[in-house]
Amino acid sequence: MPVSGIDLGTTNSAIARTGPDGRPQVLTGLAGSPTTPSVVLFASPGEHVVGEGARREARLDPEHVCALVKRRMGDAEWRFVAHGKAWSAPAVSALILQSLVADAGYATGETPTSAVITVPAYFGDEERRATVLAGTYAGLDVVDVLSEPIAAALSYGFGRLDGSPDLSKARHETVLVYDLGGGTFDATVIELADRRISVLAVEGDHQLGGADWDERIALYLSRRFCEENPDAEDPLDDSTGAQALVLAAERAKHELSDAERTDAVVAHDGARSTVAITRAELEEMTASLLRRTVDLTRTCLAEAARRGVAGVDRVLLVGGSSRMPAVADVLRRELDLDPHLHDPDLAVARGAALYGEKKELERMVAADLRTRGRLRDGEPLENAASPDLDDACRRVADAYGVPLAQVRRAVEVQVDTVVSRGFGVLAINALAGRLEPSWLVHCNDRLPIRTSRSYGTVRPDQSEIQLTVVEQQGQAESSRPEDAKVLIVGEITGIPPGYDEGSEVRVTFEMGFDGVLHVTAFHVDAAIPLVLETTTGATLSQAEVARERDQLGRTRRRD
Ligand code: AMP
Repeated sequence: MPVSGIDLGTTNSAIARTGPDGRPQVLTGLAGSPTTPSVVLFASPGEHVVGEGARREARLDPEHVCALVKRRMGDAEWRFVAHGKAWSAPAVSALILQSLVADAGYATGETPTSAVITVPAYFGDEERRATVLAGTYAGLDVVDVLSEPIAAALSYGFGRLDGSPDLSKARHETVLVYDLGGGTFDATVIELADRRISVLAVEGDHQLGGADWDERIALYLSRRFCEENPDAEDPLDDSTGAQALVLAAERAKHELSDAERTDAVVAHDGARSTVAITRAELEEMTASLLRRTVDLTRTCLAEAARRGVAGVDRVLLVGGSSRMPAVADVLRRELDLDPHLHDPDLAVARGAALYGEKKELERMVAADLRTRGRLRDGEPLENAASPDLDDACRRVADAYGVPLAQVRRAVEVQVDTVVSRGFGVLAINALAGRLEPSWLVHCNDRLPIRTSRSYGTVRPDQSEIQLTVVEQQGQAESSRPEDAKVLIVGEITGIPPGYDEGSEVRVTFEMGFDGVLHVTAFHVDAAIPLVLETTTGATLSQAEVARERDQLGRTRRRD
């Protein structure tokens, strides 16, 4: 069973896998739709509904319906409470993943056991860990988490070659991926060149997406409804009314992507209004949202330019919200770009499936080389001698009935990415005389990263050292500790006396392609390593994870 690719989206999710011809196929469950709304209805203490059924019932039973859970990923405090049970964001996401997995099982006759799950490029460490946890809860081996724009670029890079799924034939091309989904926005500049896909710059906001457009329209509809029906209750003051209004707003928004005007019907508290709305009005009331995507895109392009990119050859619009005509218009008008819609709903799942296949074939080739003593344990595949690699690719192709070109492509195409935020530790700045973030990893540094920096103890005979690992919040690195988000706090304890002030403490940050951070620290003279303790984060406590696993085991999907 190939590794599945899962787009775990804010509003919609999809699952894909590569077929025997190496092309990604989106898998469809009983409902027959390639995408599943990322909505969960907790129908009773032991039963839940995922997808369109949950979305439809959202109007009738809004208190038991959880939507936009992706915006909560990484928030360890957040819970959705239904029927007296509390669900964390990874647990709710796990129900969506289980539903996708069941659909894939229905479509192929085989239940997926491993997957690549995509995340917005702008997701930080905690959100990525939360995503891995969701996958684990759903019983999946999460082979990797992949940035959505890379997935979109992979699906584009493979697909555009006219039937030849061979990226190595690609000419050099710089691509801007503008991804405006239901709840998140990412702008990413990617270079496709010489069998390499490299992310050069990322910018984004994971609290900005189509749902914000819906909210603005809903406010407008409620205002108009209240003007026409002064005696009726404001639909926004009632959760059922608000849900219905947001759905009507979204419907109107979709219609206005094709038509210049539409009517939205608002029925509430025994009254009813038909509100006419034009595309121009929609664009006016949401202009500041669109402006923010333009500003972030501009910053992203500036960062890419700083890295030597002269211009972009291609602009891919992905994410459902990029269907709004205003998106392409503003990019043309303000940034002089020539955007193209690229499979906006499914490109990410398809790209994730391609990446999943690459990981799986790489793993098999590496295993073959290791059993023959041609690659040491832990050594990367690129260290293998070229003839050995050729032989291993051939053996894997024969053994698994996969075309040789497909295996070669998997091992040859390299995917590079950059980190989306800075990471550092809190340290005393001797000049300023205060505790400040000291940044070891910077936004847009290339992954994977391994970087070390040495710090000194602040007094003689210091018996313990506290290490606080922080993540950059906001657009720029700040020297104020209150601007940084604390990720992990760890302590080196039991340092024997006898060491001077300024004794070396070496801190090492490692981040793999998945963007998950690993930190180690070492008191060099005393040879004491740091034991890290996670104090915040998506990585819930062991007890909480056990409780949620149990809870997940006690609910079943109602079809
Ligand atoms: P995604 O997260 O990529 O599935 O995108 C979902 C978002 O795209 C939702 O906010 C939808 O309302 C929005 N969307 C989908 N189709 C359209 C359309 N035709 N016009 C405007 N927005 C759309």
